[in-house]
Amino acid sequence: MHEVGIMESAIDAVLRQARAHSARRVHRIVLRIGALAGVEPDGLRFAFDVVTRGTLAAGAALEIEAVPARAYCAACDADFPVDGGFIARCPTCSALSADLRSGRELELSRIEMT
Ligand SMILES: [Zn+2]
Repeated sequence: MHEVGIMESAIDAVLRQARAHSARRVHRIVLRIGALAGVEPDGLRFAFDVVTRGTLAAGAALEIEAVPARAYCAACDADFPVDGGFIARCPTCSALSADLRSGRELELSRIEMT
């Protein structure tokens, strides 16, 4: 399950920050996950429990912000929602666009610690 590897690097980054701030405990971690990032929130939650065990982040709340996928149509000068895939078709003018503006996010958005 590749969610474990993703979560390991996320928690590595969290623990590095926690140490840098001499934190005693991490309370909440917010991840931004794009709809096309290719990871399952359930998989991430499971991985989170496993990876944080015995660390400063054990028992912390994991919040996942889902980012919808959107592509940009140059002809319409507008964003439109994307269901999946790498090429999207503009619902207004039917032009094809590979200009994905959001949906691949896989990032640490916020960490709360004391
Ligand atoms: Zn268009």
